[in-house]
Amino acid sequence: MNSTQLIIALTKGRILDEVLPLFEQANIVPTEDIAKSRKLIFDTNLANVKLMVIRGSDVPTYVEFGSADMGVVGKDLILEHGDEGFYEPLDLKIAKCRLMTAEPVDSDLPQGRLKVATKYTNIAKTYFAEQGKQIELIKLNGALELAPSMGLADTIVDIVDTGKTLEANGLEAKELIAHVSSRIIVNKASMKIKNEIIRKILGQLREAVENKEQAAS
Ligand code: AMP
Repeated sequence: MNSTQLIIALTKGRILDEVLPLFEQANIVPTEDIAKSRKLIFDTNLANVKLMVIRGSDVPTYVEFGSADMGVVGKDLILEHGDEGFYEPLDLKIAKCRLMTAEPVDSDLPQGRLKVATKYTNIAKTYFAEQGKQIELIKLNGALELAPSMGLADTIVDIVDTGKTLEANGLEAKELIAHVSSRIIVNKASMKIKNEIIRKILGQLREAVENKEQAAS
């Protein structure tokens, strides 16, 4: 690990539209338009900071193993991955949504084992175990909203923002499992070896979050 070079892993897709303006406020700006490029790693205005753009579910893995020093990732994916392998020092308070159970409108749930479809299998396992409910887990990677109407599941566990996706598919949100927002995570060894630059970047990001919150209130 080069102790002066810092790699920050970002999540590609819609969350980037909220992360990049916040990073710009914190004076971390990619030198080219990430949305228009097929590259996965980008230089920034800071000579010693690079941005890596990968799938959200891979960010905790890259940071845990130190291939990235820091990462920006949703709390949902941290809960699913487990948070023992890295520090989580800052809530960026962006990309806010809720992790919820959802069921067909006016449905009667079966008395016995619930069939639960989700990509968040670890979260679902823990949540229903805490409720003392027996479940059969069905791992899906997308289009979860179809699972109940196709007879594959009684309940789904998914991200809800406005609730429009659920509504369009005849479902309604039921139980709140967790509030979600994007977090900064930091590799444990990097925090020691690259402490100075990481503290500086965290300070800049913290200030950007506070300024944004103040402007909104
Ligand atoms: P909505 O129809 O507004 O409730 O959005 C629901 C869908 O958008 C979910 O199934 C997610 O795939 C996606 N989504 C919304 N907000 C987020 C977020 N903050 N992070 C990740 N995915 C999201």
